[in-house]
Amino acid sequence: MLSLARFRTYPGIHASGAGGHGLARYRSAVESSLLMAIPPVTGDQRFMKHINRMALLRLLRHEPGLSRADLSHRSGLTRSTVGLLTRELIDEGWIVEASANITGAPGRRPTPLGLDGRRIVLIGAELGPDAICVVSTSIRGEVLETRVAALHSTEAGAVCHQLAEVVTELSTRATRGGATLLGIGVGLPGVVDKRSGLLELAPNIGWRHVEVGPRLGAELAAAGLSGVPVYFHNEADLAAVGELEFGVRPVDDPLVYVSCGVGVGAGIVLGEALFTGATGSAGEVGHTTLVIDGRPCACGRLGCAEAYIGLRSIAAAADALGHEGIDRTLLRDRMAARHAPTRAAFAHAGRYLGVMLQNVWTTFNPMAVVLGGETVSLGGEAFLDAATEVLDRVSERAGMPPPRVRRARHADRAAAVGGAAYALHATLNPHLNTLQTPYEAAARGR
Ligand SMILES: [Zn+2]
Repeated sequence: MLSLARFRTYPGIHASGAGGHGLARYRSAVESSLLMAIPPVTGDQRFMKHINRMALLRLLRHEPGLSRADLSHRSGLTRSTVGLLTRELIDEGWIVEASANITGAPGRRPTPLGLDGRRIVLIGAELGPDAICVVSTSIRGEVLETRVAALHSTEAGAVCHQLAEVVTELSTRATRGGATLLGIGVGLPGVVDKRSGLLELAPNIGWRHVEVGPRLGAELAAAGLSGVPVYFHNEADLAAVGELEFGVRPVDDPLVYVSCGVGVGAGIVLGEALFTGATGSAGEVGHTTLVIDGRPCACGRLGCAEAYIGLRSIAAAADALGHEGIDRTLLRDRMAARHAPTRAAFAHAGRYLGVMLQNVWTTFNPMAVVLGGETVSLGGEAFLDAATEVLDRVSERAGMPPPRVRRARHADRAAAVGGAAYALHATLNPHLNTLQTPYEAAARGR
């Protein structure tokens, strides 16, 4: 039987030690965590207390302003347990008492409680094919600071070093006033083994089997962030969690977040948890085939959705792809000037997006589809209207209403904000086995 105490020890990957020893310790921590497989759904007293504390936080995040009596009623925990746990949560910086409403009724008013937006902070990062975006946020989802930087190099070591520098800089500023850093979530542009931080395949940056986790963990530890949990995930998955944790409540569930950038992919939220499939690659909709024997894709296949919807193909059609890569400034300026050929390139891609969304719709029957990523920001209505027109036509023919389609709250920062959201999500949901990676343990055991 696996010990829950050991399971709790590794909510994510911790940056540990420094230099070579740090990396070795990190690897051994990862390896021992892999032996844990699926935790049993039972708990000792400490774990049950942890689950209860997190349940109260989830209730308050869902409905700010609940009193201790409300929390007791909603959670089924006794008033004295709620009193004890809320005291701890206030002391630790999770929640804060708001002033009680004056209702005019006699007697003591119940004190409304809410998440504290100042004393615990999160860091989220997205590593894109040619740039990084890092944000610091509160646990209420307010973005405190954003940094975007072009990659100095696409060599893995240099990228991890650059990413760690920006993460450390933002973390130092976010915690300067005494706030605690809860965790760091890093979005990667491909298929990720979230337990080990191994980026298995990222054709847009030309990486295969790159150990981003160990490298970045060692860099962060060397920069003084030892012991902070670091989570790795596909960038679209993180953006989907961003919509779940920081979006409007009640959340749309099932929800499919479609990331439109150089790469095209989806993150799927089902039952307030991510659905990542048997090996973590669920949602790679950019590599579903839209055209038999069609355009070549970076993944090696022909006719993938990404070869028609990806920003590189749009930039090529709009004559904005040079030796330096995609000229985003040119695209932005031309779209602002309503340049007809550039708008037509985005609209053409938008029609393919509509076809892909209809496939997503029939596969998942989601309550909402959320669109984000830099192509959405750059292409705006020209891109999105073309997609929704296709969906509407399909809907009319099929006699079925299409799912709600809306833009992500944080547009091209959605994956980085989602990284911060994931660090919170993993902490608030200690009971969710899906936050672990059973497939990795199973594969090694074979
Ligand atoms: Zn492909």
